[in-house]
Amino acid sequence: MREARAGLRKPRSGRILYGVRILPLALLLLAAREPDVEGGKGLFRRLRPPEPGEWLWVYPEEGQTFAEYRASDPVRPTAERRTVYIAPFLTRPAGDPALLPAMKGLLSASFAAEVRILPPRPLPSGAYVRARRQVSAFALAPHLVRELPGDALFVLAVTDRDLFVGDLSHAFGWGSLKLRVGVLSTARLGAEADPALARRRAMTLALHEAGHLLSLPHCTFYRCLMNGALTVEEADARPAALCPVCRAKLCWNLGITDPMDRERSLAGAFAAAGMERDSDDALTIAGAKG
Ligand SMILES: [Zn+2]
Ligand SMILES: [Zn+2]
Repeated sequence: MREARAGLRKPRSGRILYGVRILPLALLLLAAREPDVEGGKGLFRRLRPPEPGEWLWVYPEEGQTFAEYRASDPVRPTAERRTVYIAPFLTRPAGDPALLPAMKGLLSASFAAEVRILPPRPLPSGAYVRARRQVSAFALAPHLVRELPGDALFVLAVTDRDLFVGDLSHAFGWGSLKLRVGVLSTARLGAEADPALARRRAMTLALHEAGHLLSLPHCTFYRCLMNGALTVEEADARPAALCPVCRAKLCWNLGITDPMDRERSLAGAFAAAGMERDSDDALTIAGAKG
C-alpha cells in the first residue's frame, strides 16, 4: 500500500551501536514497508476490502502513514505529563471487580506508563442524557478536560452506562486525538452472557481508545487493534495487538527502542488479566529474533 511504503524508514542511527536491541524495531519497520499480500501468511494480515455494514464501508477512512503521524504533532509524554489515569463512572460497583485492575495493568504495559485509577464518581450533570438513557461522549469530554490532573498523559473514563457519540445511535468508546480524554462503555460488551469475553472486549477497547489518546487514528492497512469497529462482531475480529505501522508509531512516540520489552510486559499483563492472547495478538516476530 502506498502509504505504508512511503511512510516508514529504518532508524537512522544506532543500528550498530545498539546491536540486538535495535533489531526488533528495525524488523518491525521493515515489516511495515512490505505489506503482506492479501490473504497470504505473514507477520500481520492485510485488511480485506470492507463489506456493507462494516466501519470502513460506512466511514471510508484513508489511513495514516508513520511519516504522517510524526508530522501530525501527536500527543506525547512530556517531563510533566507521564501518568495515565482511569476515571471510573460506574453505577454498579458489583460488576467485574477485576476489570479496572486488569485495565490498569494492560495500559501500564502498553504505554510504559504509571497508571492510576481515580476514585469512582457520579457522572457530571449533562453527560447523562436522560431522554436517551445514554452517556454523551461529547458532553462528558469537556468535564474530563477541565479536570485533567496536571501530570496526566491522558484520562480514559469508564462507564457501565450505554454511550453515544455525535449522531451515532451508540458507541463502544471514543477517544480524542488531541484532547487527551476518552471514554469507553461496558454496557454492550455482553457481561451477562459471558463475563470473560466481556472483560476481553473491555481490555481491547481500552487499548484501542488509549491509542486514539496518543493521536493514533484508525488503521486501514492491516488487521490491527486500531481498526475501527461498528459492531461487537467487528470489534471481536480485530486483534488485541498493533500492526507494524501502528506499533512503529507508538514505539516512536514513547521512545521505545526494543518493542520486545513491551511485548513481554504485555504478555504478563494479559496473563494477570486472565486473558489468553489469540495467536495473532502476540508479536510473532519474536520467533524471528531467536
Ligand atoms: Zn476508534
Ligand atoms: Zn495498525
